[in-house]
Order: sequence, then structure tokens, then C-alpha cells
Amino acid sequence: MKANPPPLALDVLDQREGLPAKLLALCREVFHANAPTPGQFDLRKPIGFEIRERQDAHMTSRRLLIYARGAMCAWNQKAGGCTYCGFYQATNGGHAPTHDDFIAQIDSAFEVYEKNDADAVGFYNDGSFLNDDEIERGTQLELLRRLAMWPRIKQITIESRPEYMSSEKLNLISRAVGSCKLEIATGIDSLNERILKSTTNRGMNPKFTLERLDAARKRGIRPLALMVFKPPFMTEAEAVADAHRTICRLIESEIPVDIEAMTIQRGSAVHLLHSRGHYRTPWLWSIAELLRGLPSLRDVYLSPFSYSVATDEVPHNCEKCTAIVARQLLDVANASRDKGDLPEPRPCCFERWHRQFWNSSSETLEQRAARILHLLRDDGVAKRG
Ligand code: SF4
Ligand SMILES: [Zn+2]
Repeated sequence: MKANPPPLALDVLDQREGLPAKLLALCREVFHANAPTPGQFDLRKPIGFEIRERQDAHMTSRRLLIYARGAMCAWNQKAGGCTYCGFYQATNGGHAPTHDDFIAQIDSAFEVYEKNDADAVGFYNDGSFLNDDEIERGTQLELLRRLAMWPRIKQITIESRPEYMSSEKLNLISRAVGSCKLEIATGIDSLNERILKSTTNRGMNPKFTLERLDAARKRGIRPLALMVFKPPFMTEAEAVADAHRTICRLIESEIPVDIEAMTIQRGSAVHLLHSRGHYRTPWLWSIAELLRGLPSLRDVYLSPFSYSVATDEVPHNCEKCTAIVARQLLDVANASRDKGDLPEPRPCCFERWHRQFWNSSSETLEQRAARILHLLRDDGVAKRG
């Protein structure tokens, strides 16, 4: 069966004009200034693990996240990666670990799974699980078969860009897990093409992505959207408004959403913007505002601000209230999915956030992005990636 063509092939990428071309050039430049060399890491060991308690609408689970040591996302190699991506720095520089390496990685993960009494697994390879160049096809299927046989396991989550979700591949992976639930996560930062083109360099076609997730669902695979909150160049108010529209449309299409509030990962274009004073990670008040405005929190989960790579900054308020408001959002509201548990305004910084939030910008998103990219360009980019 024919595989689905990538939505943005190289020749299409290189014909981009205007803002998307400038973003592409920035991401490629930053990536090439920071790209890791192969062979730095022990490929038989994952980068790390994390246990997350999770109450979804469809199940409660104690999930072991396996941050697997991967090859490198093809999108990093092709387009420099998404503007916020520093994951490639933890990868093997574009060379795929072998079948035996990946099996050794899940064997060591099994010990952690047992010790923590987990009952679900997320296997993340800082790229696309379903890309045969990142994980060889037979290895993908063997990993799924083995994970599906772990005791107590209720669900396996993998992530992949949509261009690798061919119908043939979806059939194969749904057969490989047998009766175990399989979830496939993919990045959908916005369903607004204008905003995507101005902010993410994600190379994502919303229609194509939704169509592939629908194809997954028809095969019994649960779709999950990963939505980065507050892409670069957007004001907090613009980010909240677009995230609200995106989440509502996804939920209408029965696609649950993981909100991944922006963090500053080294080696990303956003890191460069942040280091030059052109980006701030979202206020926690903005995240609360977004959640409060949604019709329901039932199918929405706010991801903890931790990933496979270290971060220089995560979403925050003022020093006085950051810890307590983050806990309220991540532990309390995430667990209850009750809007009544969202943090209430606090005197230390809520007013300051509120004033900034409603202080409208005189520039359009495109004008702001073009101006900032121009400033960076004047300064020279690669040295500071
Ligand atoms: S954010 Fe994900 S899709 Fe984008 S370049 Fe990084 S690993 Fe690839
Ligand atoms: Zn505060």
C-alpha cells in the first residue's frame, strides 16, 4: 500500500517565500550551529524516565515515560526542526540506533516499570516512532509487541509526525499491540495556517494531520494532539485566543489535547529569541485563563514542564507565587479536571499580568515576527545558537 507523501517535501520547503522562508533559514542556521555528532551517547540506555499519574477521561494510569535515545527527528535534519525544538541535542546525530540497542533500552525500562508499579508506557524517541529511517520498521513492531506484553499494561503511547502514519503502517502497529490500547500523539500547535506559517516552522498541514488521526482512530488507535502553547512572536492574548480555538476544534473532532506550555530548550530558535530578549515563556496566569475559558477540561491535560532535554526557562509568574500556582495547575486541576480548582488571582502579580495581557499590540503577528527576525539577522544568528 502506498505511503502518504510528506506534506512538505524539500523542494516545496525551498520554494517558501517571505516569513516562512526566513523562519526556515533561522531554524536551519541554529540547528547547524548546534547539531550533535553521532556516537556521543550509550545507545543501549534511554535518556531517562519519568512517572506520571494521569487521569484521562477514558482511564486513570500510572505512566512510565521512556525518553528513548533516538536517531534524530527527520524534520530537524530537513528543516532545522520546529522553532522550539532542542530535542535533537539528545539524539544520536541522525544515525539510527540498532534493533538490539532499542530492545536493550526497553529492557532497562522494564525494571523501572516494575519498581514503580506502572500500568502504562509512553515511548518517546525525540522524533517520529513511525519513521523507518529513525527506527527500522521491524524494530517498531517488535518494540510494540514487547511493550504490549508487559504485565498490567493498559496503554502504550508513541509519537510521530503525520507523514509517517500511512494506512499500511497504522494497520501494522494496531495489529502489533493486540488488545492493548495504543495512543498516537502528534504535534498540532494550531489549526490556523497563517499562525503556523508565522511562528513554528513545523511544516504541518492541519487538514492532512486531522485526516491521518482520523485514519488512526478508525483502526482503534487513540489520537492525541500535542499543542505547544505560546509559539514565538505571539502576545499572551493572541496565544490564548488561538489555543482556545484550536482546542475547541480538536475536542469537537474527539481528539484529546496535551497542552505543552513553551519551555526554553537550548539549541532551539526560541532559545536564541529568549537569549536576545525577544521571548518570554507564558505566564501561568495565561495558562489558567486558557483553561478557564474552555467549555470543559475533560479532554485536556496540561503536561508538566519537563522533557528529555534540560530547559533554561519554564512557564512562570512572579517569584512569590510561581510554585504554588504551578502546583495548582499541574497537580490539582489536572487531577480533578474541575475548573473550580484553577488558581485564583493573587495580589503579588495578577494585576501586572492582567494589564500586560490586555495591552493590545499595534503590530500584526506577521509584522512583529518580521521585525524581530530582522533584528536577529542584523546581529548575526549562528554564533549565538
Ligand atoms: S518538535 Fe518534534 S517534530 Fe518538531 S523537530 Fe522537534 S522532534 Fe521533530
Ligand atoms: Zn505572583
